[in-house]
Amino acid sequence: MERAKGERLLLMASPLQGHITPLLNLAEILFSRGFSITIVHTLFNSPDPSSYPHFDFHAIADGISHAEASTLDGLHLSDLINVRCKDPLEEYLAAVLSQSKERVPCFIADASLLFIQPVCHHFKLPRLVLRTGGASSFLAFASFPLLRQKGYLPIQESRLEEPVLDLPPFKVKDLPKIPSQDPEAFYELVCRFVESCRASSGVIWNTFEELESSVLTKLRQDLSVPMYPIGPFHKHFLTSSSTSFTSLLAPDKSCMSWLDTQEHRSVVYVSFGSVSTISKVEFLEIAWGLANSKQPFLWVVRPGLIRGSEWLEPLPSGFLENLGGRGYIVKWAPQEQVLSHPAVGVFWTHNGWNSTLESICEGVPMICTPCFADQKVNAKYASDVWKVGVDLQNKLERGEVEETIKKLMVGDEVNEIRENALNLKEKASVCLKQGGSSYSSLDSLVSDMLSLECSTSKAH
Ligand code: UDP
Repeated sequence: MERAKGERLLLMASPLQGHITPLLNLAEILFSRGFSITIVHTLFNSPDPSSYPHFDFHAIADGISHAEASTLDGLHLSDLINVRCKDPLEEYLAAVLSQSKERVPCFIADASLLFIQPVCHHFKLPRLVLRTGGASSFLAFASFPLLRQKGYLPIQESRLEEPVLDLPPFKVKDLPKIPSQDPEAFYELVCRFVESCRASSGVIWNTFEELESSVLTKLRQDLSVPMYPIGPFHKHFLTSSSTSFTSLLAPDKSCMSWLDTQEHRSVVYVSFGSVSTISKVEFLEIAWGLANSKQPFLWVVRPGLIRGSEWLEPLPSGFLENLGGRGYIVKWAPQEQVLSHPAVGVFWTHNGWNSTLESICEGVPMICTPCFADQKVNAKYASDVWKVGVDLQNKLERGEVEETIKKLMVGDEVNEIRENALNLKEKASVCLKQGGSSYSSLDSLVSDMLSLECSTSKAH
């Protein structure tokens, strides 16, 4: 195993929970291979440096206020970051590259931070990309021009059930989409971010070969840059929960003692991640579906999850009390710990990539309710390709919720799904061991980074 010495890596995440966690985990992995680490970050949603005393942190003045962030959709937030962070990053790199006593072999940047490409180019600093989503969704993104040419994009409501012949196994409804007034801007952003990966010195993936092998093979041909699938990142460490350090919200650990009181594989864990929102009507249908299923449930209702509500106001009074302790609601959970708890039987998820991967790593079957972007692709793979989950996305209605939960908790179907989930869990574990695919890929990444030529670094 090759180790770095006297080498400093600069890494920057997109300032969203689902991007910050994998980047910090990646930094931890590379630190364990001997690299010194500097995390470059926006002031908006900045990580907590006190959890990482062994890293250096540098804040970029992004000028984004919380008020601004809360009124902007993801697309416009991304635009603002790409415009406002370029000059401050350029200033910072000019200083760091001329002063660093260590060699800086490359910059590792989240794939969506488009402004980093020209800045690195200016300094002739090699740039590696971290793609925090899965390879399958990236292939869908990379196929956008073809999908548009063939008429699948922009998505038409009347064609949702049509198979996308050029991109099996998808139907039109599975293609990535975001809730924006401006679908053209989304299309443009996706094309630019794919091109930016193509122009990089390599792409690091939080996935593993055995999970997405055929897609990774296609992407190797398509992108023609080195590919490093070294995930699942959070399982590189023996400590149980990486997200307890990377979380932007404080996890409510009281739910762990509640889980301790529940029977083996009996609990439905429900979380739709850090960004998705639902309407009040959907919230109530979920609540009644959970109640009527008669299964115990642990539900993450993040402040802001329900559009137009602060927190639990739409819940009928006495709702939880009437369940006699069968339901537990928190604002934020220690998710990795929850998923590894023996009482959890099913994860009802929005299929953000991190949640999907965390569920796979614990062998927990999923109920898939994707909301937007890559989540639809991940849900399709979970239910139809890996067959570790069932789909619940047509309509959030209490009867359907109840039926789906019962199907996965007590029906015959669950045995096969659980077996598939446990098989994948085993693969996710084996790939990280010596000789495993992610282990070898990490070796290649470290060795390739050490041999990268950087013309600006003062050291060496
Ligand atoms: N998460 C958590 N506690 C919660 C809900 C989510 O720690 O109550 C973490 C989860 O473990 C995952 C991340 O937040 O690492 C969410 O990322 P994901 O890609 O699943 O979804 P996103 O939030 O980006 O939509």
